[in-house]
Amino acid sequence: MDRHQDGLTANELLINGEGLTYKDYLILPGYIDFLPEDVSLETKVSRNLHIKIPILSSPMDTVTENQMAIALALLGGMGVIHYNMPIEKQALEVEKVKRFENGFIADPIVLSPHHTIADVLEIKDQYGFSGIPITKDGSKNGILVGIVTNRDIDFEKDTDKQVYEIMTTELITAPEGISLADANEILKRSKKGKLPIINREGHLISLMCRTDLKKNQDYPLASKDKSKGLLVAAAVSTHKSDIERVEALVQSKVDLLVIDSAQGYSSFQIEMIKDIKKKYPDLEIMAGNVVTMNQAEGLIQVGADSLRIGMGPGSICITQETMASGRAQATAVYKASLYAKKFGIPVIADGGITNIGDIVKALAVGGHAVMMGSLLAGTQEAPGEYFYENGVRLKRYRGMASIEAMKSGSGKRYFAEDEKIRVAQGVSGSVLDKGSIFDFVPYLVQGIKHSFQDIGYKDISSLHRALHDRHLKFEKRSPAAQMQGGVHSLHSYKKPIIGD
Ligand code: GDP
Ligand code: 5GP
Repeated sequence: MDRHQDGLTANELLINGEGLTYKDYLILPGYIDFLPEDVSLETKVSRNLHIKIPILSSPMDTVTENQMAIALALLGGMGVIHYNMPIEKQALEVEKVKRFENGFIADPIVLSPHHTIADVLEIKDQYGFSGIPITKDGSKNGILVGIVTNRDIDFEKDTDKQVYEIMTTELITAPEGISLADANEILKRSKKGKLPIINREGHLISLMCRTDLKKNQDYPLASKDKSKGLLVAAAVSTHKSDIERVEALVQSKVDLLVIDSAQGYSSFQIEMIKDIKKKYPDLEIMAGNVVTMNQAEGLIQVGADSLRIGMGPGSICITQETMASGRAQATAVYKASLYAKKFGIPVIADGGITNIGDIVKALAVGGHAVMMGSLLAGTQEAPGEYFYENGVRLKRYRGMASIEAMKSGSGKRYFAEDEKIRVAQGVSGSVLDKGSIFDFVPYLVQGIKHSFQDIGYKDISSLHRALHDRHLKFEKRSPAAQMQGGVHSLHSYKKPIIGD
């Protein structure tokens, strides 16, 4: 508790008209009487949606498609599928997340009994595996009649031979609806490489691979809906015609709709929210982006269930320079949260997160979760292939308002898709390889928990209570303090895995 006049409240720190961002301040330490593992990072991302870790991935075409959304949801966060693709494709991306069942391959590659060994070899070449279920008519959900594995084709010289002549027909299978743990157990006991899952009529439903046994763990923090499907969000623009996109996404059972607009306080967005709410009153909407209380009010009044905060802090973003408008991110998050909290609406701090400390600082000034692009774009689960530049392994990362991305459709976010002369508000670049989300996000989460321990809070709601009760104290950092707070006075050093 605060027995002395020491440090600044958020109000004193952020209210005097000077825009501050995460590097400009520190949170003063608190009292520790618990361990990092006692910290819960559960949070609210919209009026009725709760997740276990406060991390969302940006709706950008170099950040979030189904693979990222699946991985993040398994780990307790949530991905927002971008809209720089045709409606059907985006709806399919959402469907893939909703249909994902951990450990089970939902649409395994199959062949019919009349395909040849050459066809099996071609699949092996292209995809790297040769364990192929054989269905009667060769369709994905056809009746399972056999399986071909490496051992069936090892010594076959005649590649024109048809699959039915060599396939294994005595199969160990498991019934549809089996739990992951039970299926794993059968795989272990049977000593087979593959376990096909079939329904009562014998149709193939999915496949499990022994090589994945280690990966087939339970994810206790996974973000799930009532029917145990993973939670997923998807972005739409403020264009009237995008109501069609909304309809397709609803069909695919999207959990949260993110209205993706760089300056979100517009008649277009207000109309869009009203239209959606009229048609789908229960669909949760994250509106934005906003940075002022006026903007927040405008969107909450028409039914926004969550607000996305940020105009210009993104790593790839040049909005503040080119448009002369925006707001320093910590000030923006604090101001918007002050207004939104009266209505129980969470605010999502979008952009400008460069390390674990920034995440905690965003939460400490009222953010309920962060949304990140650059920190996640270098992971295996982000779209795109790795490439090397001067021996360094990289992935491409581009702003959705970069000229490149706008040409392929994302201009809608910036009211610029029909313009003959395009003014970029973002750049295109690359980011370092960050490995897999399955290693990277737990690393972030562990770091956040340690930080919560240092500042003396066990969860996000008690942190927010202390913020608004003015018990949480901050200190502004001078440029010299910022320099001293980073690594200094060394000849050389090895960077930890994520930046400074
Ligand atoms: P195989 O024995 O040659 O089929 O190969 P493994 O079972 O050792 O490895 C196959 C890997 O590919 C596993 O990690 C699977 O999860 C993955 N995989 C993804 N899609 C498919 C698919 O359609 N069929 C098979 N067999 N594996 C797949
Ligand atoms: P980052 O995590 O890379 O710092 O920021 C990601 C966020 O930047 C996104 O979630 C989005 O709000 C914003 N953003 C994405 N592309 C652009 C762009 O081209 N220009 C601007 N101004 N912001 C962008």
